Amino acid sequence: MSAARRPWSIVSPLVAATLLGTLVGCGTDSGSGPGSVVPTVVTGAYPFAFVAEQVGGEAVDVVNLTPPGVEPHDIEISPQQTVEVADADVIVTMPGFQPAFDDVVTQSGGDAAVVDVSNVVTIAGADPHVWLDPTNLIPIAEAVADQLAAVNPAAADTYDANAADFIQRVTELDRDFADTLATCRQDAFVTNHAAFGYLADRYGLTQIAISGLDPEAEATPSQLAQVADAVGAAGVTTVFTETLVSPATAETLAEELGLTVDTLDPVEGITDPMTSDYFSVMRQNLAALAAANECS
Ligand SMILES: [Zn+2]
Repeated sequence: MSAARRPWSIVSPLVAATLLGTLVGCGTDSGSGPGSVVPTVVTGAYPFAFVAEQVGGEAVDVVNLTPPGVEPHDIEISPQQTVEVADADVIVTMPGFQPAFDDVVTQSGGDAAVVDVSNVVTIAGADPHVWLDPTNLIPIAEAVADQLAAVNPAAADTYDANAADFIQRVTELDRDFADTLATCRQDAFVTNHAAFGYLADRYGLTQIAISGLDPEAEATPSQLAQVADAVGAAGVTTVFTETLVSPATAETLAEELGLTVDTLDPVEGITDPMTSDYFSVMRQNLAALAAANECS
């Protein structure tokens, strides 16, 4: 015991402090430096952060650049977040969804592996909302698992097992959507912004959106008139608002047409991560759609 401790007694306090600092530095390093164990995934929005958390489990640090409760389309990136992007091990992006994030990724000069969602999912036009077809999360989870394993091979089996569990839950969600929405009295639904195209395509529904792909774009009077015509023709019962955008326009339209207002959440962010996640919000969406469209 005394022999083992002796080397420390001849090390000067300054050197000892430096050594200790180095050791502590290693232990708390969750980033990309040499010898780091837990990879860091940086992404711009909740759905992709959720996939990375599910696949990585304890063996990942996930940074979502959009704070909880904030609408992610038009986020701005702070200098501190620019550093986080440059230090990332893995970056998950959906090009065109968040232009400010795209710019920082392009300019970061970091050596992160980039999972470009548009390379693993079939993209419909300029629509970034791929996660609203649950099956699109499967190739994203597989790609994230591959990149995490490349950074941290010691945890490759964990990433594979987590991805398999996640894919099973996604498959069950997809089956429940398909079963519930198979027989509905009507197939059109009215949304605030056009986030639900992938969902509509997957389950044979028709989306009537008040505004376009970007929730900040306000509908013109002529667009509103078109929506009102389409709603009347389709026999719609409900106008859906969403959680992170003002419901004013949707509520006015519903009032004018004598329709019910309900919430359909595009899962672009989670207001309370302690009580809800992608799966719980999507199941609420399914129940809301089934009620509005009178599905059996
Ligand atoms: Zn959106």
